Amino acid sequence: MKFYSTQDKSLRATLKESVIKGMPADGGLYMPVSIPKLPKAFIQSLEGKGLQEIGFEIARLFIDNINENELHNIINSALNFDTPLININDHIHTLETFHGPTLAFKDIGARFMARLMSYLIRGEDRKLNIIVATSGDTGSAVANGFYKVPGIRVFVLYPCGKISKIQEKQIATLGENITAIEVKGNFDDCQELVKTALGDQKLNQKIELTTANSINIARLLPQIFYYFRAFAQLENFMDSDIIVSVPCGNFGNLTAGLFAQRMGLPVQKFIAATNINKVVPEYLQSGQYQPRESIATISNAMDVGDPSNFARILDFYDNDREAILEDISGASYNDTETRQTIKKVLSRWGYICDPHGAVGFRALEEYLMQVDPGASGIFLETAHPAKFKDVVEEEIGIEVSVPERLAKFLKREKLSLKIEKDYQKVKDILLDQ
Ligand SMILES: *Cc1c(COP(=O)(O)O)cnc(C)c1O
Repeated sequence: MKFYSTQDKSLRATLKESVIKGMPADGGLYMPVSIPKLPKAFIQSLEGKGLQEIGFEIARLFIDNINENELHNIINSALNFDTPLININDHIHTLETFHGPTLAFKDIGARFMARLMSYLIRGEDRKLNIIVATSGDTGSAVANGFYKVPGIRVFVLYPCGKISKIQEKQIATLGENITAIEVKGNFDDCQELVKTALGDQKLNQKIELTTANSINIARLLPQIFYYFRAFAQLENFMDSDIIVSVPCGNFGNLTAGLFAQRMGLPVQKFIAATNINKVVPEYLQSGQYQPRESIATISNAMDVGDPSNFARILDFYDNDREAILEDISGASYNDTETRQTIKKVLSRWGYICDPHGAVGFRALEEYLMQVDPGASGIFLETAHPAKFKDVVEEEIGIEVSVPERLAKFLKREKLSLKIEKDYQKVKDILLDQ
């Protein structure tokens, strides 16, 4: 499979080029030249299939130049945990995508990408520098996914004071090949600094620089798998309308879902659920796309004012808003509504949502009530509630226990470099090695 750029449909890049460069030189995003359809028999026999098995069947349609054994190894070692589907009530299920080491769904993309990259440069004498901006969870997943991977250095930029303490510990305490950069600014500032570095030709002549943001196609591909895995855990999904609600920030997760649907997964409708950073729900409603500064919320991994993967969605639908509306409905909620939802889901059904999942739940519940009462739905739980312990405990008044793999980070010492939002500072750090 080859990849084109959202800025230039005639471009053809190999998988290796797309994954290692991360972003085409024209500033667009890589897209697969076609979306393979899965045979109907595969969809019909989905029930009971595991994440690794599904992952392999899907991955090999996009990745056709890696030996099957190697591809199995990459998938099995990246996805050595499941994405279980949990019933909340008769109509609503949640797909828990947070069972990886840093307790957010981003482990899935980051771990797959780290293993694929390291495979793609095996035996070559090169030193790859990965720079990534994070609103919290990307940084921890990428830092942990690449920790001690030979030949690769990782630079994580995160906004000072705008990520949770646990997230910061997971990013900034590793050391070794991981450098944490604490930027006095917001997520969009971090993302801008990363874009500037990636586009700095002089810098790129000196060091080999790439990114692991969700704009990297290697992060998107494995996220397709768990949408199929969700359906594999549903009974009789062929006979009912299934709505899938995705808590969105940079819109990588939803983009992967749209790929899954076009590959043949019978999703009736996706809900793009956001916090008050709602440029996409606004676009769906009015047709106007107005990116702007992000606003801090309790679902901070979704505090994105100019979501980079939105360009992929527009491209995927040839900028046809009517076609987009066929597949995606938008909804957004403020922090008060998110807090109420955490409380309600616990008291009514005994399930503890994290703030991101709560946004997804609420969007789904309202959609099922107002638009499609006969349907059932799945919302994605994108992080373990313990990652947002303070907020969650404030609402529910009981302690959220912290899994051991998370607790061990809390004991470690922070090692980050604190800088102003000044590109020169970032450049100095990148060159100082
Ligand atoms: C990153 C993240 C999101 C948003 O995902 P996108 O793919 O950027 O839309 C939602 N929830 C959590 C917990 C996240 O870490």
